[in-house]
Amino acid sequence: MVDGLDARLATPARMPRLFELATRDAEHTSAFLDARAVMPTRTNTNHVSLLTGTYAEAHGITGNAYWSRVPDVAPGRLDAAELIAVETLFTVAETTQPSLVTLGAFSKPKLARLFAAAPDRQRAPDVLWSAELASPAGRDRVTGYSFDSETMDALLALMAPAEPDLAVVNLSDVDRTAHARGPDSDDCERAVAGADAAIGRLVDHLRALGRWERAVLVVTADHGFTALAPTSERPYPVITFGRDLLRARVTGVHLVADGGVEHVYADAVPAEATTVGADVELTLARVAGLARETPGVTEVLARLPVGGVTELVSAHPDWHLSHERTGELLLVASPGYEFVDPFDPAEASLLGNHGGPGELTVPLVVSGGYAGLRPARPGAPVPMLVDVAPTIATLLGLRLPRRLDGTPLAAELVGHPLVAVLADAQSPH
Ligand SMILES: [Zn+2]
Repeated sequence: MVDGLDARLATPARMPRLFELATRDAEHTSAFLDARAVMPTRTNTNHVSLLTGTYAEAHGITGNAYWSRVPDVAPGRLDAAELIAVETLFTVAETTQPSLVTLGAFSKPKLARLFAAAPDRQRAPDVLWSAELASPAGRDRVTGYSFDSETMDALLALMAPAEPDLAVVNLSDVDRTAHARGPDSDDCERAVAGADAAIGRLVDHLRALGRWERAVLVVTADHGFTALAPTSERPYPVITFGRDLLRARVTGVHLVADGGVEHVYADAVPAEATTVGADVELTLARVAGLARETPGVTEVLARLPVGGVTELVSAHPDWHLSHERTGELLLVASPGYEFVDPFDPAEASLLGNHGGPGELTVPLVVSGGYAGLRPARPGAPVPMLVDVAPTIATLLGLRLPRRLDGTPLAAELVGHPLVAVLADAQSPH
């Protein structure tokens, strides 16, 4: 997983090691440059979709941040394993086929927390490596994220002694650089080259150890990126909607900004509510009206019915975001804008961000020496990120992840194996 690798950044010129697979192993390689991530296009949401094969409406990681609806508790992070409502692939592997060797190496400590063990809920991979285990020189001083070369060092060192059945790695230099310098900067181009070099080292490692012939390599990204650099049309691409509400003396709501989207939670609405009640509906209608007048807000959507406000589920039936952790209102930023609420100078100075529908398009490359792979024919269906877990489950002979509480998952919330790349595809049971 190359964190933040927008599809437009994944070109043969920038990523020669990745794209040489299409000629070197042409009979086993498929390169899609139009795969679809899930909404919101945030890191935590899409990593969990990748490893559960489900949308946020099912797995419950509705972004990087949320409000728990506990009064007097500030908005928090959605980065703990106990918050995931669907089994991860690690959980399925460890509970049904414990002899499988699984490994996760995460350059962001928060991802290691997401895929750590949660008692009676989730199982960790057999080996879980986090950036916190990297040498100080191998980590970015500001974020604490490990550099791609360091992350790949760790992955290869862990893979060498015990050939893993499933190894998941997150490389975050592209994401970190695209946030700080912008996705179209020279620094970001260098980061893409670095991620490509790391992928090349993984391929070389598999070939050198004679493992390539039974390997399947899936390279993708959790979301794309949009540049936020100020332009003459939008000299100030930051939306600080909380100030507008304060000025209008609107109270009774919590705002949670998450890059290209912002959640509006009504304080008086319990998590399980299916309607908001007359008083709250008036407040939310007022908030929606103010949001529509705010420069940079392109959509105002209602998860629960609010008179005069577009319904989330009817406007975007493919987002599958109707989870109780999603705000009663969801605001979407115009391309090139981000929400920063409350105002924070570091967040406001980012030159790239993601979260909205403009960052859904990601690359997906499937390759490897494994004889059961075939190249996708032109015109094959556009792959979804939620299809990756069912594909891995098929390859490993695992059943699909289920909801932790045993409730069956609705068919539209689950991905499908990528039959376009599997020579002998059968759905796992
Ligand atoms: Zn990310």
